[in-house]
Amino acid sequence: MTEHPSVHPVLGIDLGTTSCAMSVWDGARLIVIPGPTGAPTVPAVVAQNPAGQIVVGRPPGAGQAVLTGIKRALGEAEPVQLRGRQYQPSEACAFLLIDMKRQAETFLGAPVHDAVITVSGSAGEPQRRAIREAAGLAQLNVRRLLDDPVAAAVALGADDREHTCAVYDLGGGTFDTAIVRIGPDGVSVLGAAGDPRLGGDDFDDHIVWYVLRQIRERHHVDLSRDAHVWRRIRREAEQRKRELSTATHTTLELPLLTATLSASVPFSRRAFEAMIEPDVTKTLGYLTAALAAAEADHGIGRQGVDQVLLAGGSSRIPAIRARLAGYFGLPTTAIRADLDPDELNARGAAQIAREYEPAPTFESFRPGLLSANLRLRAEMADTPTPELPDTPSGRPDVLHPVPAETPADYRRVAEAAHTLLAAIEPSLPAASGWHIPGEGGGLDPSLDALRAAYAAFIAAIHEAAPDSRLAELGKDLSTEYDQTGF
Ligand code: ADP
Ligand code: MG
Repeated sequence: MTEHPSVHPVLGIDLGTTSCAMSVWDGARLIVIPGPTGAPTVPAVVAQNPAGQIVVGRPPGAGQAVLTGIKRALGEAEPVQLRGRQYQPSEACAFLLIDMKRQAETFLGAPVHDAVITVSGSAGEPQRRAIREAAGLAQLNVRRLLDDPVAAAVALGADDREHTCAVYDLGGGTFDTAIVRIGPDGVSVLGAAGDPRLGGDDFDDHIVWYVLRQIRERHHVDLSRDAHVWRRIRREAEQRKRELSTATHTTLELPLLTATLSASVPFSRRAFEAMIEPDVTKTLGYLTAALAAAEADHGIGRQGVDQVLLAGGSSRIPAIRARLAGYFGLPTTAIRADLDPDELNARGAAQIAREYEPAPTFESFRPGLLSANLRLRAEMADTPTPELPDTPSGRPDVLHPVPAETPADYRRVAEAAHTLLAAIEPSLPAASGWHIPGEGGGLDPSLDALRAAYAAFIAAIHEAAPDSRLAELGKDLSTEYDQTGF
């Protein structure tokens, strides 16, 4: 536990559809509170581990029951389902907030009772109410619900000049845009528009359809109705999509997609850009609508915008930056890429949070709220304490590559197992060689048996074990691999 005595313990929370982030003022500057893997964002995913406990913030493992897109369900009457259990959307959201509160308390070494939480600019009253409800269930005082674009603009910070910015926030499941004026006196929204169902998830879907088409042409099978195949491709698509923000070419590697079919599909940035072009054009349509509102109410047109602020992970796609520069007739330097789009909204929320005094305790005395909180917490697995080994090499949980001397009979299954473990568990770092044990460390418990069988087999090869022993372990590995269903 780290002591941060001068910290202002009112959290700035970016509650996203796909991922969440947190920031606080540490007495000298805004800091982003890292998630359990050290990354600034935590996936907005609630899942159930094999023991039936709720775990938060891990990318879903194979075959795991998960809840995603929770923010989008807020304000709707329908409960959400997690392996036969029903939760109100605000309860599902409370799991995220309880986990974030815990993370923050561990990081700050002090209790936290207050937060400023961001909300989509287009959120209606029912959604806002549901977020307040969720915060209450997490025992957090909501000091303010802050519109996402305002948070982004606040994070930019004011200088002595007045600026008119367009905020372009393209996340995983939502698109928000606003024209904002930033001045020494604060931030005001001149016009806003958005789409609660447009974002990087749609881009992933386009890639999946493309891959399924390629497979159909090459192998004459239609796998589009296989939910399991769909999930595998989507996971790979999301990774390769991110890669194309820096590389121009990549390949989707899909070993043993079915019992008989492996696919390796080359994919280029150009093909990706063509795929998402209609979606990007749609976002510019919303931008035009936001500008029309700013023009009608405040006389600010397209020419009046001097900067574009990019927020949301999908704004990292280079083509989007270029389209925005063209749209506004601005140099690319005016499309601000120097601010981390993952952290922007959380930083803005934390900046506003400084205006509120931390409370000594959770303030609501609504009957039933504390017991509801305890009930939810009882369902959750404990937050893991990361333990990093001093000497990573030789640990059984390090993912070693398949050695050259692997017997031919088992080479294929060993390679498939290695690819699967590396792909499904991207946080199993081949390079750094360690992982954080327990929940939240990025390891998928449903793959424990496969991981162990693989480690035993590879260790036996390294030890030059007798052939009979290798055959035995190789057979175990094949059995475990078959059981994963990949
Ligand atoms: P939300 O606000 O909806 O929670 P985020 O701002 O966290 O979403 O953005 C998540 C989305 O950004 C995902 O669709 C993810 O695939 C996408 N994304 C993240 N990094 C990149 C990248 N480098 N290139 C392209 N897309 C990215
Ligand atoms: Mg976001």
